[in-house]
Amino acid sequence: MMNYDKNNIFARILRGEIPCKKIFENNHVLSFYDVNPKKKIHALVIPKGDYINLDDFNDRATDQEIVALSKAITEVSKILGISANVGKGYRVLTNLAEHGGQEVMHLHFHLFGGEKVGKMVE
Ligand code: AMP
Repeated sequence: MMNYDKNNIFARILRGEIPCKKIFENNHVLSFYDVNPKKKIHALVIPKGDYINLDDFNDRATDQEIVALSKAITEVSKILGISANVGKGYRVLTNLAEHGGQEVMHLHFHLFGGEKVGKMVE
């Protein structure tokens, strides 16, 4: 496993060095809009801790951090009006490393919604 790069773009957003369009924040999690939206609604949910991807997170994060991140996804879906209960649903996705096509090496979940998201994998 590679080392966590403290200068990745999401680390810089977390430090406030780069702005973001914030949706939600608590002690463990930050959510903001993707700068290059692939669907009508495209949000990101990230842990505040230094984790490269989902495998790294599940290996090293505390149970509290893991619960907080999972719950934040649903919280953000409600805020955005796309949750399965309040709205019409959405897709949640995380890319891992090379074959997953991960570009930013800080764990993030994509939330796509606001319209039919389409084919699962191209
Ligand atoms: P991934 O391929 O899963 O690593 O996706 C990285 C995502 O981060 C892409 O959807 C980018 O559009 C998004 N992104 C890159 N820089 C920023 C930024 N400064 N603010 C918000 N989203 C960003």
